[in-house]
Amino acid sequence: MISFYPGPSKIYPEVASFMQKAAKAGILSVNHRSEEFVDLSKKTITLLKKKLNIPANYSVFFTSSATECWEIIAQSLTQESSFHIFNGAFGQKWFEYAYKIRYKSIDYPFLPDSTLDVEDIFIPLACEIICITQNETSNGSQITDDILVALNKKFPEKLIAVDATSSLAGIDLNIAHADIWFASVQKCFGLPAGMSILICSPRAIKRAEAIHENLHYNSLSAMIERMNDWQTTYTPNVLSIYLLYQTLQITPVIKQTDKIIKQRAEKWYEFVSGFKSIQPMIVNSESRSRTVICVTGDQAHIKKIKASAKKAGITLGNGYGKWAKNTFRIANFPAISEKEITTLKKFLKQHIK
Ligand SMILES: *Cc1c(COP(=O)(O)O)cnc(C)c1O
Repeated sequence: MISFYPGPSKIYPEVASFMQKAAKAGILSVNHRSEEFVDLSKKTITLLKKKLNIPANYSVFFTSSATECWEIIAQSLTQESSFHIFNGAFGQKWFEYAYKIRYKSIDYPFLPDSTLDVEDIFIPLACEIICITQNETSNGSQITDDILVALNKKFPEKLIAVDATSSLAGIDLNIAHADIWFASVQKCFGLPAGMSILICSPRAIKRAEAIHENLHYNSLSAMIERMNDWQTTYTPNVLSIYLLYQTLQITPVIKQTDKIIKQRAEKWYEFVSGFKSIQPMIVNSESRSRTVICVTGDQAHIKKIKASAKKAGITLGNGYGKWAKNTFRIANFPAISEKEITTLKKFLKQHIK
């Protein structure tokens, strides 16, 4: 079975041997306050920062999911309200989670295919943080770096938090252009689910320390304190940290991965545009995700393609939310091989007019 599901997605084939290596190394029962753990945590974060081009003065934390990061941001970095700019299901879910914690939070939905014009956006003073989904996994759209730059320029006092769950480790994101970034590892990192990475700018750290919210096991101020010693507030997923460390060692620096992913994306869009009965869901090429290709067509046709793919041993990403029936999604994540892409293209040529 080949998986093009955009999360949980195909893992790096080497993960199986890394898991055996972890068992042999005794890492699976390591104490999370031990020197051994501290060493692993420090090595992993250092390598992650190097490989993903994360500014040296930014901090990295381990959390258990992107969903947890949504809550941490609402709990520990928001006192009154957050402002949510989104065009799909994940951005909307983030807003809904934040709203339950900070009920004055505001949503700013926009259409997936429209370019977001920052000049049109008005954010009340009481909104302290802008929340935006860089790569909207549900419909295959993306926010460009220009938009982050424009948001920074127009709203210099507000923190900017970016959900990059399906793009971090896939494309070269300019981390310095926002204060908070997060992603879980079951997408572009090519790892099994169960962990997420949270990245904070010095400004975000300062804000968390000033707010000093300490009601939760995952209050950011407590996480910062523990991370001073490369530790976590609770017993973390040590196996996942170990697997992250091992895969980071065998994967290229992000600039190189970015080049491959963008070339593959361009070819995917070209390929999908070559059929009469299907087209890329996002028409505007700037707004097209480079890591999740969303394909739309007639409902019955899409249904048939999905079913035949399954029979052929290929898992396509189902459509998501309101796009469940008229789309399928193709993950364009780094762990997917050229050979697998060729197999899928061959299959699609045979089954689509
Ligand atoms: C998958 C995904 C999430 C949810 O990730 P979890 O690890 O399940 O919490 C959030 N945001 C985006 C953009 C995603 O693609």
